[in-house]
Amino acid sequence: MNFIEKDLVVVGSGISGIHAALAASRRGLEVLLVERNGSVGGISTIGLCNPFMRFWLGGEFLVSGIFGEILVDLHERGGILRNSFDSETLKIVFLEKLRKAGVSLALHSLPTKVVSSERIIEEVSFISSSGAKFTARARMFLDSTGDASLAKMAGATLFSGNMEGAHQASTLMFTMSNINFERIREDVGRRRSNFFKWVTPDSKPLSVAGYFEEIEKARNSGFNNLHDYFFFIELPGEDRVSVNTTHSFDKDPLNPFELSQSVFECSEQIDQLFAFSRKYVRGFEESRIEKIASDIGVRESRRVKGLYVFTGEDVRSHRKFYDGVVKATYGIDIHSPETQKITREVRSSVPEYSDYYEIPLRALISCDFFNLYTAGRCFSSDFEGQSAGRIMPTSAGMGQAIGMASAISFESGRPITEISRDEIDRGLHSITGNNSICSLSDILKINHSN
Ligand SMILES: Cc1cc2nc3c(=O)[nH]c(=O)nc-3n(C[C@H](O)[C@H](O)[C@H](O)COP(=O)(O)OP(=O)(O)OC[C@H]3O[C@@H](n4cnc5c(N)ncnc54)[C@H](O)[C@@H]3O)c2cc1C
Repeated sequence: MNFIEKDLVVVGSGISGIHAALAASRRGLEVLLVERNGSVGGISTIGLCNPFMRFWLGGEFLVSGIFGEILVDLHERGGILRNSFDSETLKIVFLEKLRKAGVSLALHSLPTKVVSSERIIEEVSFISSSGAKFTARARMFLDSTGDASLAKMAGATLFSGNMEGAHQASTLMFTMSNINFERIREDVGRRRSNFFKWVTPDSKPLSVAGYFEEIEKARNSGFNNLHDYFFFIELPGEDRVSVNTTHSFDKDPLNPFELSQSVFECSEQIDQLFAFSRKYVRGFEESRIEKIASDIGVRESRRVKGLYVFTGEDVRSHRKFYDGVVKATYGIDIHSPETQKITREVRSSVPEYSDYYEIPLRALISCDFFNLYTAGRCFSSDFEGQSAGRIMPTSAGMGQAIGMASAISFESGRPITEISRDEIDRGLHSITGNNSICSLSDILKINHSN
């Protein structure tokens, strides 16, 4: 058996796990990052998810630190267009940062066994796809698998789905190229009622949702696999978009057979959307499918129960906490058969961002194990709270906050619950590139009216 000794073991290299590993490692911890896939970034890279949802308010960035630095790095490589980004460039940036920070990375590896005693996790065993086995001992463990898989293995208390156990829809994201944006802008400008009210022809990146007339026409001529609207956003480059329109409902994303069924369903939808867009959507006549995500996007599956359970009510009331370590403004966003039915009311609604809420450090600490933490999609939350907190910038914010909190707890010998938000903020400031905040305003073109 191969034994590895580390200070912190992070399982899951999505945007939350990467930020946690970077924060802890830059602060001096020995960190192991374990990932089941052959690439890092999770939904933010191989899931082709785009764009970074709103993380600014009244001219202030609610998440910065390492996340801000990453946006600047994307910008320097031409990989960002305001808040839409190139997933391949993001992979390069993530890998470069992990390498420079000295994070030890184990790809193609899955946890198989957790050994714990008296509410402390002592070691976790892993197996790689080649059959190689290793065991990692550490003072602290972080579950950023999105599915709370490490916590499940440890026997921690978990939540899953809504009150009825139903999950959010999963989506297979894809990108298309050879798009004519001039034709799209002209079309959107001329027929505004054919789109959601928030769509404007001069937005950059161009983000369009609607085509209600075309969908109806196509359905009448035999296209039977379309949703109520077609939704895409411009990507960096001359002619590319990311499409977020497929949906697989009523499946259990934790069941491999049902998840595979979702992939079949979404793949059929992509096939039909491609034919639909070329035939009916102005600007898509010569389009091509550029890439289909190699991992289906699971919005919600299982969540760790922490010392605090973040709720939908916390989002609605813009609640602030004494230990609030991440600020966010994105609202409750549930993809279900009901919410995806596009009524007249939904078509004319425009999202409003008036205040922010906070996610407390306690929602990132397991209630069962003193040294088990979490971040990102599986943080401690109810169904509604998760639907708001799951977006990429907030997941990155959770990751860097818990990574820094674990490092300060480790070096000071104090329990993690005693680490203050000010210490975490100061810690993140000290390990982050200096001028990222100033460059961020230029990249995102944010001012006080946004
Ligand atoms: C379809 C879809 C569209 C979305 N659109 C947007 C959007 O437009 N903007 C936005 O900001 N957010 C969006 N989101 C939300 C956001 O992308 C995710 O919630 C966020 O990226 C989650 O990051 P994470 O690190 O928590 O998890 P993930 O990205 O899911 O990362 C988890 C990582 O853990 C790995 N892993 C899982 N299990 C194991 C295991 N047992 N062992 C080892 N490794 C494991 C996975 O391979 C993965 O790399 C969307 C989500 C989906 C699904």
